[in-house]
Amino acid sequence: MQAQSSEAPVATSNVLLEIRGLSIHYPIAIGTVKAVNDINLDVYEGEVLGIVGESGCGKSTLGLSILNLQKSPGRIVAGTIKVDGQNILELGAEGIRNVRGPKIGMIFQNPLTSLDPLMSIKDHFIETLRAHDPHIKVEEAIARAETILEDLGIEKRRLAEYPFQLSGGMRQRIMIGLTLVLDPKLLLADEPTTALDVIVEAGFTELLAKLKKKYNLTVVLVSHNLGLVAEIADRIAVMYAGRIVELASVEGIFEEPRHPYTRGLMDCVPNILLNQKDLPAMPGSPPDLVNLKDSCPFAPRCPKVMDICLKEEPHLTYEAEPGQRLTAEGRGHQAVPRAVACHLYKGHK
Ligand code: SF4
Repeated sequence: MQAQSSEAPVATSNVLLEIRGLSIHYPIAIGTVKAVNDINLDVYEGEVLGIVGESGCGKSTLGLSILNLQKSPGRIVAGTIKVDGQNILELGAEGIRNVRGPKIGMIFQNPLTSLDPLMSIKDHFIETLRAHDPHIKVEEAIARAETILEDLGIEKRRLAEYPFQLSGGMRQRIMIGLTLVLDPKLLLADEPTTALDVIVEAGFTELLAKLKKKYNLTVVLVSHNLGLVAEIADRIAVMYAGRIVELASVEGIFEEPRHPYTRGLMDCVPNILLNQKDLPAMPGSPPDLVNLKDSCPFAPRCPKVMDICLKEEPHLTYEAEPGQRLTAEGRGHQAVPRAVACHLYKGHK
């Protein structure tokens, strides 16, 4: 696995997605699961932001919230999510329908369950386009589908086929096509390669890079697969216990991880760059999100734990270049903003 990145976006780029103070809770019988806690995050136009972390860290909950979707009984208890300046949490059913699809597209985990087995691929495209433009002519819908299929490397004749006649990789590409046909600005991909084998997965990263360029996409990629994220992302947000604990360029995360949790994650992946042969499992397990304390949630597993870590939770703070003045979200920075939530790095506030 090799950490690669396209040219890093700078903070002076336009912010397409702005998340502030976002908290998502799940009331259950024994209390409240605090799945996402006070997240602040900017996603810049044209970048690929990877969101990574162990299972249950809140990454998929955060990803789904960008479409104002929550798994029951989850609910957003605080915060704003602005896409192109519009707070999607204030939109009614009609407003959110105009955002999902035309502004934000989504690739789900399992392409087979997302396609209707009784509908041809052609009808999937026609139905998708008609849901947003009831007057679109069939010929135009088919022409748009054919153009997309060409970009996806799929023959036009496949339009007449049904999902069961296609391979897993092809179904995945059809799902991407059904998303792109609405020309979204932001593409949300939640564990997009989970259902794919390794060879098809390799093709997926290439395809996504090509489509991103052609369709001017901004991508939020939620994945537990660090290799995949390393290949595609410009920046990475590392989540732990419902918080972002580190945010940096892909090189920063892979070559110079700072938060002890990020370092632990890096130890768990085969990294030929670092010549690591063994794959140690990270000791311990994530905290109980019902009973979070006012301490660093990583403290019980942290090899660097200090007294202050048990008394005070560290907040995500941005690293400033000498002579630069930053806002709370790191704006004004001339390079990729880097942030870490750890008392070891309090000095760089
Ligand atoms: Fe470890 Fe303390 Fe940093 Fe938490 S704040 S990650 S316990 S050093």
